[in-house]
Amino acid sequence: MNRPLTGELQALDRAHHLHPFTDFKALGEEGSRIITHAEGVYIHDSEGRRILDGMAGLWCVNLGYGRQELVDAATEQMRQLPYYNNFFKTTHEPAVRLAEKLCQLAPDSINRVFFTGSGSEANDTVLRMVRRYWALKDKPHRQIVIARENAYHGSTVAGMSLGGMAPMHAQGGPCVPGIEHIRQPYWFGEGRFGEGRGQSPETFGQACAQALEDKIRELGEDNVAAFIAEPVQGAGGAIIPPESYWPAIKAVLAKYDILLVIDEVICGFGRLGEWFGSQHYALEPDLMPIAKGLSSGYLPIGGVLVGDRVAETLVEEGGEFFHGFTYSGHPTCAAVALKNLELMEQEGVVARVRDELGPYLARRWAELGDHPLVGEARSLGLIGALELVADKSSGERFDKALAAGNLCRDLSFEKGLVMRSVGDTMIISPPLVITREQIDELVALARQALDDTARRLGKPIDSPCNGDKQ
Ligand SMILES: *Cc1c(COP(=O)(O)O)cnc(C)c1O
Repeated sequence: MNRPLTGELQALDRAHHLHPFTDFKALGEEGSRIITHAEGVYIHDSEGRRILDGMAGLWCVNLGYGRQELVDAATEQMRQLPYYNNFFKTTHEPAVRLAEKLCQLAPDSINRVFFTGSGSEANDTVLRMVRRYWALKDKPHRQIVIARENAYHGSTVAGMSLGGMAPMHAQGGPCVPGIEHIRQPYWFGEGRFGEGRGQSPETFGQACAQALEDKIRELGEDNVAAFIAEPVQGAGGAIIPPESYWPAIKAVLAKYDILLVIDEVICGFGRLGEWFGSQHYALEPDLMPIAKGLSSGYLPIGGVLVGDRVAETLVEEGGEFFHGFTYSGHPTCAAVALKNLELMEQEGVVARVRDELGPYLARRWAELGDHPLVGEARSLGLIGALELVADKSSGERFDKALAAGNLCRDLSFEKGLVMRSVGDTMIISPPLVITREQIDELVALARQALDDTARRLGKPIDSPCNGDKQ
C-alpha cells in the first residue's frame, strides 16, 4: 500500500470510525496505524514495516496468520451453507461436529456447549444460566455472582459488570445488580509490594482465597450462585496466581456448594500448555465461557461449555430456555473453528507449548528480569508480563503522568514488536506456532524497547544490575 493511501484511510478513519477502547480525539490527532497483511507471527503495516505480533492479535490468532486450511474451510462452508440458524429445532453439521469436538477436549464432566458470537455474549449467557440453574433447583435466592477486581469478562453490560475494571464500571452504568467483587491474586502488586508487602506467594494466595470465604459469609452462602474467574487474568495484566491460590479457592467453593465458572476465553485452546487453563490448574468448572482462540480469530465465535450438573438440570427440568443469538453456532464460523481445532491436534500445538515453547519462553523471558526497569518478569505457557518500576528494590512505580507503559508499548511497536501495556505492566501472548528463533527475536526486541524506554525516562541502562541505584 502506498503512502497517499495511508493518508486517505487515516482521514476517513478519523472522520467516520469510532474504535473500541480508544480515546477518539487523541487517536484522531495521531492517526491510526493501518495493518495491511500478515503471515505466520508477523503483521505488516501500510508504511512497509514488518512487526512481530507478540499479542496474537487480541490473544486469539493462536495458529498464526495465513493458514490456507482455514480459508478453505470457510470457502467450502460458505459455498454449501453460508448461514442457517440453530433455533426452532434445526441445526447443521458444522455446529454439531464442533460441539462434539469441544466436549471431547474439555474436562470429563463437561458434555454440552451453547454457542455465541463472542466471549462477552458467552459471559452474558453464563449469568443467565447460573441464575436459571438455581431457580430450577428451588433456590432462587442464590443470585449473586462473585467475581474479582481487575478481571475482564467482556464489554457487554453483563460482561463489564462481571469484569472488575473500575474505568468500565464508571461509564454507562449502573452495572447489572447481584455481582460482587473480591481481591485479585496479584502477588507482585498486592503481596510482594503494595498492601501485603513482604508476603510470600503461598501466604498471599491463601489470603486471597480467604477473601472469597469472607465475602460468601458476608453475603450469606444461600445467596451466592457462582464464582467466576480467569485461570490467569489476561487483560488485567497477565496475572498468574500463586500455586496456593486455586486449591484454596476450590476448597471454599466446595464447602459452600457454589458453582465455578472458569472464563477460558484467553487461557483456553493451548495458551497455558493444556487445552484449557482449567486442566493446567486441575479445576473442575461447572461452566467455561470460550471464544478467541477457538477459531484462531479467523471468524467470530464463542460459547459456553456446560458441565453435567448444570446441563442435566437445564435439559431435564428447564423447559424452553429463552436465550440465544442469531449467530449462535454460525455454520461458517463453526467450520473454521473445527478445522482450527483439528489442525491444532494434528500439529501437536498444545503439547509443544507445554513441553517446549512454554519452558523456553520462561527461560528467555526471565532474563529480562535483570533490566533496570523490570521489577518482575513472569510467564506461564505462552503468556508473559513485565512489571515496569522506577525502583526495583522497593517496587515503586513511575509517576503516572509519565505513562511509562504506553511509552514502552509505542517504542516496542517502533522496533517491530507488538507488546501491550496495562498500566505499567507489559504483556505478551504470541501465536502458539511461534518458533524458538522467533521467541529469541521477541525477547531481543522487548529488551531494545525497554532500553529505549529507560533512555526516554532518564534511567541509566549501562550495567545490567544497576536497578537499585537511581
Ligand atoms: C476478550 C475476553 C472476553 C470477551 O470476549 P469478546 O469476544 O471480546 O466479547 C471475555 N473474557 C475474557 C477472559 C477475555 O479475554
